[in-house]
Amino acid sequence: MYKAFLLKYAEIGLKGKNRNVFENALRDRVQETLARLGEYRVVREQGRIFVECPDNFDYEETVDALKTVFGVFGISPVVVIDSTDWEQIIEGTGRYIEQFYQDKNFTFKVEAKRASKLYPLTTPEICASMGEYLLNRFPQLRVDVHDPKERICIEVRTKTYVYSKTIKGPGGMPVGTGGKAMLLLSGGIDSPVAGYMIAKRGVAIEATYFHAPPYTSERAKQKVVDLARIISDYTGAIRLHIVNFTDIQLEIYEKCPHEELTIIMRRYMMRIAEHFAKKDGCLGLITGESIGQVASQTMQSLIVTNAVCELPVLRPVIGFDKQEIVTLAKEIGTFETSIEPYEDCCTIFVAKHPVTKPLQKVIEASEKLLGEKIEELVETAVKTAEIIEIMPDGGECA
Ligand code: ATP
Ligand code: MG
Repeated sequence: MYKAFLLKYAEIGLKGKNRNVFENALRDRVQETLARLGEYRVVREQGRIFVECPDNFDYEETVDALKTVFGVFGISPVVVIDSTDWEQIIEGTGRYIEQFYQDKNFTFKVEAKRASKLYPLTTPEICASMGEYLLNRFPQLRVDVHDPKERICIEVRTKTYVYSKTIKGPGGMPVGTGGKAMLLLSGGIDSPVAGYMIAKRGVAIEATYFHAPPYTSERAKQKVVDLARIISDYTGAIRLHIVNFTDIQLEIYEKCPHEELTIIMRRYMMRIAEHFAKKDGCLGLITGESIGQVASQTMQSLIVTNAVCELPVLRPVIGFDKQEIVTLAKEIGTFETSIEPYEDCCTIFVAKHPVTKPLQKVIEASEKLLGEKIEELVETAVKTAEIIEIMPDGGECA
């Protein structure tokens, strides 16, 4: 019955003179997302985005795809009446109610919009006239203008659009309208969720993963690629940097106090991720840290890790309980992949009793023990990093 969708976008509607930029970005994101499914026509028209579907489109698949586009607040499947002739609008709307509602025992209200003031009926006339017609044709219906069960919406443009149902979209802002940030992506539960949350605010994402072959397996790396793939459905393409961290970790292991390993390692991860971030024009770093979750995520540890970065470090799950993060991970589809049992590099080099309240001065003194060799190792790690472009349609290229 449906051949089109009308998309609503509350938040970006408020953006004053930037509105154009936001609306165009949203249209482009919708267009890119649907292009993976078929030839859809996406047009911006007077505060709305219309999606016209190809003949053979799949309804569920299209709705699912639209639910991944940040900036979309509501998705209304619409019936298109290929005319603005009032008789045809009446007939088409009647047919819609007939087919769509099995049970017609409900209250309703007609809401109307017309694109042109030249249209022979005013908006109140459209509402009154349509209301009357529907009441006559379906005697079970009742009007309730204050709290109707269904709002029958009619928009008269060059064609006429009729809809009454709105599916919840993901909300947020179109990706790309808020710059770009570098996600430290591990194989865990938290960091994919963190990336999703920042992308939802309109920020495009790149990612960096640190692995430690042979201590971590090829499969652990593949898991991170898989996670990046899943979140790219929401964020668009992700440039993933895979850094071989083994020699750096071994060097830290050899020279530094073992209870400080994790925190020193984390500082090197931040430094290297920031290097790639700056190179690619990212305006911040993103991590999946949450206060108190592990020793390296106490307030004191966060201060010491933060100290090596110039860019702001965004930690969107900082105040979340693990269970709250898990719930989101399940919702966005990363959970099942995150709990695959492959070691990530941190779990192998962790000390039995890591410091929970590190002091910056102490940690800096320990890092001095590393000498010049660490600089070389960092340089090599940066130079030899593998870069994969993760594409939302499942493709990837080195
Ligand atoms: P996650 O579930 O995301 O792995 P975690 O609870 O295991 O998080 P940590 O291992 O302490 O937490 O890591 C904190 C954050 O540091 C992660 O959320 C991630 O952003 C980053 N991080 C940790 N390990 C790596 C890694 N191997 N590669 C890239 N980033 C990492
Ligand atoms: Mg982890």
